[in-house]
Amino acid sequence: MTQLSPVLKQATPVVAVRGEGLHLFDADDRRYLDFTSGVGVTSTGHCHPRVVEAVQRQAARLVHGQYTTVLHEPLLTLTERLGEVLPEGLDSLFYVASGSEAVEAALRLARHATGRPNVIVFDGSFHGRTMGAAALTTAGTRFRAGIGPLIPGVVVAPFPAAFRLGTDLGLSEEAAVEYALRGLDHVLATVSAPAETAAMFVEPVLGEGGYVPAPPGFLAGLRERADRHGILLVFDEVQSGFGRTGRFWAHQYHDGVVPDVLVTAKGLASGYPLSAIAAPTALMRKAWPGSQGGTYGGNAVACAAALATLDVIRDERLVENAAEQGRRLTDGLRKVAAGAPVVADVRGPGLMVGNEFCRPDGTPDPATAQRAQQAAAGLGLLLLTCGVHLNVVRMVPALVVTAEQIDEAVALWSKAVAAATT
Ligand code: PMP
Repeated sequence: MTQLSPVLKQATPVVAVRGEGLHLFDADDRRYLDFTSGVGVTSTGHCHPRVVEAVQRQAARLVHGQYTTVLHEPLLTLTERLGEVLPEGLDSLFYVASGSEAVEAALRLARHATGRPNVIVFDGSFHGRTMGAAALTTAGTRFRAGIGPLIPGVVVAPFPAAFRLGTDLGLSEEAAVEYALRGLDHVLATVSAPAETAAMFVEPVLGEGGYVPAPPGFLAGLRERADRHGILLVFDEVQSGFGRTGRFWAHQYHDGVVPDVLVTAKGLASGYPLSAIAAPTALMRKAWPGSQGGTYGGNAVACAAALATLDVIRDERLVENAAEQGRRLTDGLRKVAAGAPVVADVRGPGLMVGNEFCRPDGTPDPATAQRAQQAAAGLGLLLLTCGVHLNVVRMVPALVVTAEQIDEAVALWSKAVAAATT
């Protein structure tokens, strides 16, 4: 009998047969409160009626019109509509199907456009699992070990995580930003000369690396160096984008800082495989037609799902809801943490919330984090871990989450933490 490959690691034993809003159901109709959203993908909840309707309609009209062969209406309409939410100036879009592919596309574009070989990434980064994206990933050796050699030309600079990532040096946020930017300058002076550096890739909120928001001043510091040295600044908002953090893009917490290339996926199409990079047309023109492509890029059904997602986010005010419910969630979780010292930090922004587990001496405590995550699953609350040391339990509910569902999750989490610590 064939079976699913054991290369997959399963976070929960659940076999889902259907989903509705914030809930998943198994074959016995047991209900699970889903605070994973398929790793931050089902932004409008499971099977939002408007997304379902748009997908059904499109599936009956045209499923696949491959964009190097023929264009199609959903692709053109989506390209127009994304202009409503993209930062000014990023007026050219290229689509693929997954986050990793979009990161690869950004990497290609950066090398094409600058003619420079190197790329700088920041400690704790996760950019995907394909070989180029894996080379940009520093969130743990588990994503890199045994598959090398990876592509050369990737240089790592510090991310300002003063407390997080298990390296608490007691630095203030300001000092951590200063330290990280000096580290970057040092890398540019000693390892990768600006004239050899094509791009810097950064997540405005580290995702797999532990849900660590870039502190104020860091992205502005990167922007300043990018401008000074002609290096492209790429924001990977695959996980943090599309309303997740209570702003449409997480980088909008950093007043006025805009990337040269923005990478989006996950929440973009509510679960249908679609990703994109956005950049100024003048920058995209520096690569030649045919330099990028992909059989499934901009699939018509996925584009229809993305259009419905945009409508739902606007009409149901989901960015505002993410901000409001995110505050309620972090407030509730901080109360739980106040009674459980093992939860050393609870942090947002919005609905991208991490609970970091540490031992009394401040070292990471992945064992208790995983016990709490498992206990929560047993209680019907689905959660994931993340972090360089796997000691962060993350909560990423769909943006349609209600106050009642937040309160229910916090109550279940309180029980799960108690079960994991006694
Ligand atoms: N970038 C970031 C920031 C991500 O969080 C992820 C997925 N977790 C990826 C890239 C890769 O996306 P995918 O799994 O769709 O290839």
